[in-house]
Amino acid sequence: MRHFPIFLDLDGARVVVSGGDQAALAKLRLLFKTPARITVFAADPAPDLHALAHAGRITLIARAMEPGDALCARLFYAANDDAAEDARAAALARADGALVNWVDNLNGSQFITPAMVDRSPVTVAIGTEGAAPVLARRIKAHLESHLPSNLGVLARAGQAFRKAAEALPMGRKRREFWADYYDRTGPRAFEQNGAAALPRTLQNLLDDHLAAKPSAGHVDLVGSGPGDPDLLTLKARKLLDEADVVIHDRLVSPAILELARREAVLINAGKKGFGPAMSQEEIGRLMVEHAAQGAHVVRLKSGDPGVFGRLDEELDALNAAGIEWAICPGITAASAAAAQLGQSLTKRGRNSDLRLLTGHDVKGFAEQDWRALSRPGTVAAIYMGARGARFLQGRLLMHGAGPDTPVTAVENASRIKARVIASTLADLPADLEAAAPDGPVILMLGLAPRAAAAHLPQLQEELA
Ligand code: SAH
Repeated sequence: MRHFPIFLDLDGARVVVSGGDQAALAKLRLLFKTPARITVFAADPAPDLHALAHAGRITLIARAMEPGDALCARLFYAANDDAAEDARAAALARADGALVNWVDNLNGSQFITPAMVDRSPVTVAIGTEGAAPVLARRIKAHLESHLPSNLGVLARAGQAFRKAAEALPMGRKRREFWADYYDRTGPRAFEQNGAAALPRTLQNLLDDHLAAKPSAGHVDLVGSGPGDPDLLTLKARKLLDEADVVIHDRLVSPAILELARREAVLINAGKKGFGPAMSQEEIGRLMVEHAAQGAHVVRLKSGDPGVFGRLDEELDALNAAGIEWAICPGITAASAAAAQLGQSLTKRGRNSDLRLLTGHDVKGFAEQDWRALSRPGTVAAIYMGARGARFLQGRLLMHGAGPDTPVTAVENASRIKARVIASTLADLPADLEAAAPDGPVILMLGLAPRAAAAHLPQLQEELA
């Protein structure tokens, strides 16, 4: 992030614009949303600028910029539609100490103006650092259609009530009050009785919240899916939005952690397949400790929490402490890997059951029903199996599986760095060693990529 977004107070501030035509008028339209004092320098101003000057909206000085013209200006826009004049004006303004924007010249600018969605006092600023203006406009259009037009009215009424709401203790209780107002009570009151009803609504709501008993903490055990944030369920998203504390595993992708509230406490329980990590007791203790203090805890696990996630041990710890909990399922790695291969997990005539196996358990490489797994047509997703590939291969061949049985390793399924390593039972250990994956890997026994060469590069491009 080269450009750091901030919101600048322009109340009474001096803003100088150099330019007498369309580019300058476009900037003025934005600046008119603010209470800035605007001065425009233009050697040959367009009639619209004269009209604005007559209406008292700008001070118009009908000559080109000179040294000292931008003294005491907080912001300066070079908007002449003329590169030489813009360069000259920008240099003068910079010498005068103003922060400079040179329209359509990223490198000549000290700041850039974002695309905006205006529901004042709610303002959303969208920037792409000049990389993709079209994308910024698309995001803006998307937000415009999703943010209710009455948001500004609700927020203004809310703003006037902020002092009164301090009767509620800071943190969770106050947050719940505001969430109730913005999500439910406020929009409903506005719809029924208009803006005039909002102060009364806020007061009634505050009285209700002041009278309510302190809410007990609880824990949601939430599946974060295989990594692509778009594969998060709507419910998981909502819970992340509300959480006071998020305790997550190592495999939960950073893009998903970004979705937690900014004030939420993030704790990495960092369990590694083979390495050191926070013990199960510690995790249990942490969840109980925070929930007992009234916090909403999200225990975020990769994939589905009920698949090789040691869920039961955590539920036992919560039950022992009498803490309320709920499970929010997620998309497990096997589903994401199959999708990546363009294959289904079950198929008429091929396999009527699907096995989810772990390649290793507490005692090391895990023993399985090898005879059943060795039958032709078997499909099994083997979690944490990459290191045990040679062991798996030995057991399966010994029980009669064909050396040419397809086995496909999928690394980072659903993520930008997704990789598909198509192999067979005979070649698996060597192929894995050659590929040297460093992300999470799931082995799909009995599945080969569908139309591998044609299909996969395209899929990966889309994900990137
Ligand atoms: N609860 C998780 C599994 C946790 S065990 C789930 O339902 O997916 C951790 C193992 O899951 C990893 O060793 C790897 O085998 C697999 N895994 C998790 N995410 C993966 C991904 N994005 N791509 C491939 N394998 C993944």
